[in-house]
Amino acid sequence: MNLASDLTGAVTRGEIAAVFQPQIDMRTGVIVAVEALARWNHPQLGSIAPTTFIPIAEEHQLIAEIGDFMLDEGCRCAELWNASGARIEVAVNVSPAQLLTTDFLDRIRTNLTRRHLSAGSLTIEITESLPVADEPEVLRLLDELGDLGLGISVDDFGTGYASVERLLALPATELKLDQSLVQVAGSPPPYVVAAIRVAHENGLRVVAEGIENEEQFVRARDLGCDRAQGYLFSRPASEEEIGRVLAGV
Ligand code: C2E
Ligand code: MG
Ligand code: MG
Ligand code: MG
Repeated sequence: MNLASDLTGAVTRGEIAAVFQPQIDMRTGVIVAVEALARWNHPQLGSIAPTTFIPIAEEHQLIAEIGDFMLDEGCRCAELWNASGARIEVAVNVSPAQLLTTDFLDRIRTNLTRRHLSAGSLTIEITESLPVADEPEVLRLLDELGDLGLGISVDDFGTGYASVERLLALPATELKLDQSLVQVAGSPPPYVVAAIRVAHENGLRVVAEGIENEEQFVRARDLGCDRAQGYLFSRPASEEEIGRVLAGV
């Protein structure tokens, strides 16, 4: 099986789809945002997980096409949900290679305008484990996006460098703790606790992902997380399902 060649043109053939996982405000329990997550429906193999195909896409220069599609889908759905009265933010995962495509900033601007979205209602998630996030070109682009008013989330925090200095070097608005940190019993390592404190001192929002049960929810809340995402609240769901949940039907 050559997944890389199968993945070529998958967007055009309609094989890639976006699903959305709610994030709730820890204080109110209200859904305030959704994260867009890519799914690949392979014609022969069925559903293939992003943990499998995203690395392949990154390796074979296919990530920009998939990422652009996900950005467009996230913005399209945000407009749709907001048109029926919801107030919902959308977060989209962005790989550095996608960020560095020449038209990325334009694409963001075009999407915001076309979908009548405020920059603040769109967040891009950049995974913390990638050293490339330190590269001057990436930093410059993130600065420009931050200037636009876009949300910038440092995803999977705690799995990579987990360095506070690094966190503050990025124009981040959000720290997203990796699920491994809230799923393991006991308090996380001191540097993570410190990172949360520094994040709050610098006005960043802290999100816990991978909350599967009540115990993890309480742990995340006690750590000071502002938002939570996980199977306890909802699995990633279709555009229509999210629409129904937001409409309360
Ligand atoms: P991520 O951005 O950290 O997304 C969170 C992952 O955790 C998702 O996996 C989500 O389904 C899963 N998750 C959420 N709640 C729970 C829970 O309570 N328990 C457990 N065990 N898992 C939970 P998913 O959808 O398989 O995506 C995996 C990763 O693939 C993402 O991790 C992200 O790094 C990458 N990815 C997904 N879509 C895209 C995309 O459009 N672009 C890029 N560049 N990467 C993507
Ligand atoms: Mg993410
Ligand atoms: Mg993550
Ligand atoms: Mg992850």
